[in-house]
Amino acid sequence: MDLVFDQQHVWHPYTSTLNPLPCYPVESASGVLLKLEDGRELVDGMSSWWAAIHGYNHPQLNNAAKAQIDQMSHVMFGGITHQPAVELCRKLVEMTPEPLQQVFLADSGSVAVEVALKMALQYWHARGEQRPKFLTLRHGYHGDTFAAMSVTDPDNSMHGLYKGFLPEHIFAKSPTTRFGEDWQEDDIRDFAAQLDTHHQEVAAVILEPIVQGAGGMRIYHPTYLQRVRELCDEYGVLLIADEIATGFGRTGKLFACEHAGISPDILCVGKALTGGYMTLSATLTTKHVADTVCSGAAGCFMHGPTFMGNPLACAVANASLTLLQTGEWQQQVESIEKQLAETLPEIGKLKTVKDVRWLGAIGVVELHEPVDLAEIQQRFVDQGVWIRPFGTLVYIMPPFIINQQELSRLTSAILITLG
Ligand SMILES: *Cc1c(COP(=O)(O)O)cnc(C)c1O
Repeated sequence: MDLVFDQQHVWHPYTSTLNPLPCYPVESASGVLLKLEDGRELVDGMSSWWAAIHGYNHPQLNNAAKAQIDQMSHVMFGGITHQPAVELCRKLVEMTPEPLQQVFLADSGSVAVEVALKMALQYWHARGEQRPKFLTLRHGYHGDTFAAMSVTDPDNSMHGLYKGFLPEHIFAKSPTTRFGEDWQEDDIRDFAAQLDTHHQEVAAVILEPIVQGAGGMRIYHPTYLQRVRELCDEYGVLLIADEIATGFGRTGKLFACEHAGISPDILCVGKALTGGYMTLSATLTTKHVADTVCSGAAGCFMHGPTFMGNPLACAVANASLTLLQTGEWQQQVESIEKQLAETLPEIGKLKTVKDVRWLGAIGVVELHEPVDLAEIQQRFVDQGVWIRPFGTLVYIMPPFIINQQELSRLTSAILITLG
């Protein structure tokens, strides 16, 4: 592979052209292993950013893609429908909380969030109310497009860079009561106060249920989410749950909202939807919200991506959801969680480590000081693991199929590297 060309011309996520860090050439991937060009194999601790839950090169997912490619790779979704999309939407309606009945297929997580925000705005427009604001939490992450960025933590996503263009929304303090601790009623106070002050202009609350991902890997108490649902009902504000990272089993429940026993008015899923094979997302809502949206001046929901409902992506997503429906993931995620509970406290004793936390198949090590990414990445690769920290966070969310030895390789590499 021409790595010099890569460094000179290929822009990777969040990288500088002035000081491009080296990239590792991956030739193939199978199960939980990423195979480098030089033959070394790395145990994948990232699931390619939450997505590859069944591992790489999965025979059933491969077969689904191959079979669909011989039917059709793509066909427009306006005025046309097809079996892979219908089957996928049926599965999503079945798997998600009962009130969510209407599915909008989109291209990526960020677009699913854009779609959710647009639904909420059109909902209030149709009801003849001006509600131009969203209420969200600090330390949240909802994607990199403009509307998604505008509800992402203002410090982490550097709102200052786009000031004047980015809409300004309302941020409540993020929850501090951790999952598994005793609930502190004080924790909801700031959110409740913000909603009380602003509810007449707030179209919806948007948040990541239970686990705030890229904005800080914070795992919070389910009662916080219950209170948010109660307050949204009390003030008549819609609730958008962004389960793009947490959805499809990652937290030990199929959807993180289940930890709190609540249902949102709008739900975003993505990332693991296709088992990490290709980009696809979905935004689900209730019949009430959908019908209200469509009763407005526009007469429809105003969105329709070119590659909406891509049959190839839908076919693989169907295969991925079929694998989830066997229920095997539950045992797998439980074993991962058990092993993390046994090993992370050891890592937590290191002097460099500020905190360790875990839930389901997510393990987080928070450091006192930010890492030197290039250096730590090299040390992880030298130890045969793929872990990509950001800032002060070294975290893993491996494919569900990881076995005990492979997971030990990940946690031992963290212990050795940070020790
Ligand atoms: C990754 C992520 C997104 C954005 O998804 P993309 O596919 O990267 O656009 C949105 N919300 C959450 C919670 C995410 O983790």
